[in-house]
Amino acid sequence: MVNNKKLSKRLHHLVGQAIADFAMIEAGDKVMVCLSGGADSYTMLDILTYLQSHAPVEFDIVAVNLDQKQPGFPEQVLPDYLAARGVPFDIIEQNTYAIVKQKIPAGKTTCSLCSRLRRGILYNYAKQHAVTKIALGHHRDDLLETLLLNMFYGGSLKTMPPRLRSDDGCNTVIRPLAYCREKDIKAYAQMKGFPIIPCNLCGSQENLQRQHVKAMLQEWEINYPGRLENMFSAIKNVSPSHLADTTLYDFILNA
Ligand code: SF4
Repeated sequence: MVNNKKLSKRLHHLVGQAIADFAMIEAGDKVMVCLSGGADSYTMLDILTYLQSHAPVEFDIVAVNLDQKQPGFPEQVLPDYLAARGVPFDIIEQNTYAIVKQKIPAGKTTCSLCSRLRRGILYNYAKQHAVTKIALGHHRDDLLETLLLNMFYGGSLKTMPPRLRSDDGCNTVIRPLAYCREKDIKAYAQMKGFPIIPCNLCGSQENLQRQHVKAMLQEWEINYPGRLENMFSAIKNVSPSHLADTTLYDFILNA
């Protein structure tokens, strides 16, 4: 049985901690909260609006949703929710669904192209609307999954960082939920009764590699308590001299 008060306190504390550790939000920022309609983005918006009214620094929030025109997308759900909450928002309408369907053969996973298109559109919006921070709803488990996927299939030791300057240098991406567990976010979303819109209206599934890694992490969470916490601590506690990347550490000079 989840203790609602404790859960809420824990999530607010972890978001506040992540914001402080990475200076994610500074005075005068215009924070664009990317809202997909999933549990993660609703939770992020909910906590950021709370912090906005309680934090010592002043910043603006605009919630932005990209309506990708998937069949069956309930267009009114987000505008109704945001208007009722009094959160400034914008809905961008772009039929990326049609592009994805046209480019990806039937039966193949479409999420990767879909996400790339979505990212491009949102980053452009940010540039055009003087947004200083783009807030994405990735959480701790997303970061751990990506870490393992990059190791297993990409041959690199990296994940999605809590704060990142975009490749073109024009945008700063922040991930205020970086310290939060997925299961806490799901429980919080349920507790708050957010009107969740499923992502896979388009019929696509996450790719198999990600599904496998997710299942493995969930199994570890159950059978090896503390393992995921340790893994997350590890990405905050890196020793370049005890890895083997010659661009990060000069092994010859320091021998
Ligand atoms: S499930 Fe569909 S809408 Fe969601 S990311 Fe994948 S392709 Fe895009």
